[in-house]
Amino acid sequence: MISATTKRLEMTDHLVNLFKSTPGDVIDKVVYLTQGKLYPDFAGIEIGMAEKMALRALAMASGLSMHEVKQELNRKGDIGLAAENLLKTKKQTALHKRELLVQDVYYALDRIAGTTGAGSVDMKVRTLSGLLSDAGPVEAKYIMRTVTGKMRLGIADMTILDALARAFASKDARRAIERAYNLTSDLGDVARALSREGIEGIKEYHSKVGRPVRMMLAQRLERAGEIVEKLGKAICEWKYDGERIQIHKFGDEVSLFSRRLENITGQYPDVAALVRHNLKVNEAIIEGECVAVDPDTGTMLPFQQLMHRRRKYGIEEAAKKFPAHMYLFDALLVEGEDLTQKPLIERRVRLRDMIAETNGFRLVYSLISDNVEEIETFFESAIENGCEGLILKDEDSIYQAGARSWLWIKLKRSFQSKMIEPIDVVIVGALMGRGRRSGSYGALLVAVYDHERDVFPTITKLGSGFTDEDLKNLPEILSPYRLEHKHARVESKLEADIWFEPALVMEMIGDELTLSPVHPCAYNEIRENAGIAVRFPRFTHRWRKDKAPEDATTVDEIVDMYKAQLKKIG
Ligand code: AMP
Repeated sequence: MISATTKRLEMTDHLVNLFKSTPGDVIDKVVYLTQGKLYPDFAGIEIGMAEKMALRALAMASGLSMHEVKQELNRKGDIGLAAENLLKTKKQTALHKRELLVQDVYYALDRIAGTTGAGSVDMKVRTLSGLLSDAGPVEAKYIMRTVTGKMRLGIADMTILDALARAFASKDARRAIERAYNLTSDLGDVARALSREGIEGIKEYHSKVGRPVRMMLAQRLERAGEIVEKLGKAICEWKYDGERIQIHKFGDEVSLFSRRLENITGQYPDVAALVRHNLKVNEAIIEGECVAVDPDTGTMLPFQQLMHRRRKYGIEEAAKKFPAHMYLFDALLVEGEDLTQKPLIERRVRLRDMIAETNGFRLVYSLISDNVEEIETFFESAIENGCEGLILKDEDSIYQAGARSWLWIKLKRSFQSKMIEPIDVVIVGALMGRGRRSGSYGALLVAVYDHERDVFPTITKLGSGFTDEDLKNLPEILSPYRLEHKHARVESKLEADIWFEPALVMEMIGDELTLSPVHPCAYNEIRENAGIAVRFPRFTHRWRKDKAPEDATTVDEIVDMYKAQLKKIG
């Protein structure tokens, strides 16, 4: 009946009748089966039986040869229709047939999905053949389509929700039912709650550990001023350029879900370990952005770095090379208490209280403000540190599961630019390295030349592009220029571990020039309280021994480059 119609309304009518006549203890299974599944998508379990295997089972159940079964498939062009036809002929001669219940079908399919290892093919074929022997021809049609993943009735989640509302509550309940679905992404679980407790059960429905909450997303506006007008005083957070992860913890068990609600725990053993050590409660659902970090310099790497983990093997190595850090921004559940209806400002306090902050597991950088200028400066510092911008969030916002909400508004740059020319910089300081770089320098603090004032303002921290050989040699190369304190002609807002006399010039390039509150190069020239810095800087491996420090790129040149970069975009 359902397969005969493509009209959503008719489909819903059929579903309403089906759900009404389904006993409460199997309603969840019926819901999954109508979509050709056994579990909600996030469980990642597929029946996935190869066509050839399914045909073997059909041959067994119908008493025909593989050749005959294949011929029928070729004639019908559909494995379901082939099964229906073959079993119709056979069933007429069968003596008696046991009535097949939904649970019989479900558990048999579940056994097929769950059988693995040696001999599993034969087991699967036998299980399916047994099921087909008990099935009527029409049932066999759907069973065959389901096991081979061809059960595409095209019933959308929203259609199921419509039908559930009509079967167990009223039209007015539709919103509440959808909200419940957004909290667990599990149509079967929602159906069970509805059939057991009606709409009251749905009002009480809450998020549950192990079932991913559909994530709340942000709207976008172009200017900080517009956002402040809309939200007033807002929680402004760095928008990290990584992968969103929803963390579920129960005891020692940790599950990580992606934005598309896939279980990605296997890709992030390092994050799972961080959670076990630093999330101090027994039961929780929290969210954050996961970012790959260069262990030697501590700098955040662009999103693409994490994509090396989208594979089966070599994850441990990838995690070692570029470990993931978690920057947390929300708490949805703690010790059984659903927090999604609490205001964000309170959820953040709860979040802070349940974690032990470490370098790799911490709250997002944030600022509470309605001062546009202050927010713009904060935005620039986010960009300079490898973030995409900011997300401004209403202090009182609830967690609107599954919504792209105006309570969260992102502020990104309206352009993406490229720094095409390398620049020559002077080394004025160094920061000690960690990890593989302990004992050497993690990053160099480098400066350009301010011709007018005859000083060297810093422009960036340079930690990339060095070979192991470079790293070994740097302390020695720089030792003749070491100072006890900052050189009088160096301008820096950052504290270096070691200071140098401006002497050595090297060439570097970056992704682009950005405004920065941290670096004094061209301070106040483009914007008040901001200088210009280089984003994602890299050593080009060219020492400019031919250049004196005063021959380094000048502040004026940097200002011109910055303006040219804007023009190129505009
Ligand atoms: P977009 O993908 O541009 O719609 O931006 C939304 C995404 O930004 C989220 O799904 C997160 O992956 C990411 N994100 C980074 N930092 C934050 C943050 N502080 N709050 C919320 N989302 C964030």
